[in-house]
Amino acid sequence: LVVLSDVQKHFGQLHALKDIDLSVARGEVVVVIGPSGSGKSTLCRTINRLETIDEGTITLDGQPLPQEGKALAALRAEVGMVFQSFNLFAHKTILENVTLGPIKVRGMKKDAADKKARELLERVGVGHQAEKYPAQLSGGQQQRVAIARALAMEPKVMLFDEPTSALDPEMIKEVLDVMVDLAEQGMTMIVVTHEMGFARTAAHRVVFMADGAIVEENTPEEFFTHPTSDRAKDFLGKIL
Ligand code: ATP
Ligand code: MG
Repeated sequence: LVVLSDVQKHFGQLHALKDIDLSVARGEVVVVIGPSGSGKSTLCRTINRLETIDEGTITLDGQPLPQEGKALAALRAEVGMVFQSFNLFAHKTILENVTLGPIKVRGMKKDAADKKARELLERVGVGHQAEKYPAQLSGGQQQRVAIARALAMEPKVMLFDEPTSALDPEMIKEVLDVMVDLAEQGMTMIVVTHEMGFARTAAHRVVFMADGAIVEENTPEEFFTHPTSDRAKDFLGKIL
């Protein structure tokens, strides 16, 4: 569904993505881990074209990523993204945050968008908060709204960039539970996270990055019990 081939990305002198080859199949859950600065966020950002690439190709459903205009807006709808900071619109209600995209980008009627948004908010466990503003919700609740907002666009793939790392421990689980649920329902997901429990239970594959390159990829069982590269062994030694 998502295929990156020989992708290169530089920031000035820094070679931020090196020869990235990655294929994510429909329904697959790929967890990306690696040290700080290894290029995990940059990788995610190239997939919905928040970053351009210097060389190589990225395709979604067989189509190269569009470069600009309406097609780019459509791409952003098809590639849902959830960040560490929830990025909700502070002056819009929870319901409005979720309906905005479907109305503006998908051209949905307000009634239909409202109905769908309420279903999604219910699904992520914040149905009763629809009329509130983001600041009135906990971090975990806001992050679940951010997930509902991305899902409202009916994305083909969901990207998560450290979705729980800004949350207090007691809120992490409620967000991970929503993500596990999504994974079980067959959503294609690329997840940057340090939550190894999530990787073990939900991931089909773990991709380990270091210095802008994919150093190792394997099933979670193999990766966690038999990492092959020194970089991965060293990293796992620090975090597990
Ligand atoms: P972390 O775990 O800390 O989030 P990461 O693996 O997500 O790290 P990236 O944010 O992708 O790492 O950054 C990879 C490298 O690219 C880093 O050295 C970073 O400083 C650099 N970088 C990222 N974005 C930019 C930018 N817009 N301009 C210049 N350098 C950048
Ligand atoms: Mg990052």
